[in-house]
Amino acid sequence: MASGWKFGRFWPLPSVRRSLFALFFGVFSAAAAAGGYTGPLFDAHLHYNTEAWNGQAGPHPLPDVLARMQRSGVKAIVANSRPNDGTRALAEARAETRAAGVTVVPFIRLYRNRDDYNNWFRDETIYEMVLAELARGTAAGPYRGIGEFHLYDSANAHGPVAKKLMALAEEKNLVVLAHVDDVAIDLLMAATPSKGQKVRLIWAHTGIGGTPVERVEALLARYPGLMGELSYRPGLTCEGGKLCGDWRALMLKYPGRFLLGSDTWVNQRWMYYEDTMAGYRTWLGDLPAEVARKVAWENGAGLFGLK
Ligand SMILES: [Zn+2]
Repeated sequence: MASGWKFGRFWPLPSVRRSLFALFFGVFSAAAAAGGYTGPLFDAHLHYNTEAWNGQAGPHPLPDVLARMQRSGVKAIVANSRPNDGTRALAEARAETRAAGVTVVPFIRLYRNRDDYNNWFRDETIYEMVLAELARGTAAGPYRGIGEFHLYDSANAHGPVAKKLMALAEEKNLVVLAHVDDVAIDLLMAATPSKGQKVRLIWAHTGIGGTPVERVEALLARYPGLMGELSYRPGLTCEGGKLCGDWRALMLKYPGRFLLGSDTWVNQRWMYYEDTMAGYRTWLGDLPAEVARKVAWENGAGLFGLK
């Protein structure tokens, strides 16, 4: 800021002075708005899909996405992609991710293409792909989870491959990332040997269809390994981007159970990556500091044993 004022003396034009003034206070107020939480972030729901990079020819090649994470203070990511090549690219870029200060936690996505969205839960070749990927691993270490997968009809949680994958997740200690409704949470949990008492499942968007907070609370109480990821969650923030009262109360009751995510499912989400993270920093500031740090970083780091 001092150099800005000195600059003003060399450019005595009032308009330049005014814009420097505006720049300074603009930056200052943005920092102040986001200032509630300034620590590290764990992005627990990130996609690096083919249209984002397309073998480096897309609009968001590796240097671009890593720079966005670095500018946002994101220190670790759950990486998954359609197809899995994007995750591999992130996992293989050891020098670049290290330089950006980003730890890559690789997940196996169940989608080779768009058609798989509506069929994975009954397609044996998806199960075989998951086993092959698990055996193959990545340059950043073994896969740590499976997903994100979707169930647009919760009854498809009864699909044979959905049930086998849930059992596999529990058996292999893989974390599941699932975009499903609350009914499907019960069904998926029931498909595990422990009936949902051991498996760790990140609930993408924590009920994007507007599952009532009371129902979210009941599911958290029932399944000790259920974690709520909060992108696109309706009713989470109220006026001025502040955390709504019922969600604040739930986070205070279960501070160890919530996560943040960018959900870069389309390229537009990459374009606004920094804004998404700044928005999280705003409402994290409405929580006590130790709770904010858990939701922002520690819960994700703890889930995968990161330092
Ligand atoms: Zn997603």
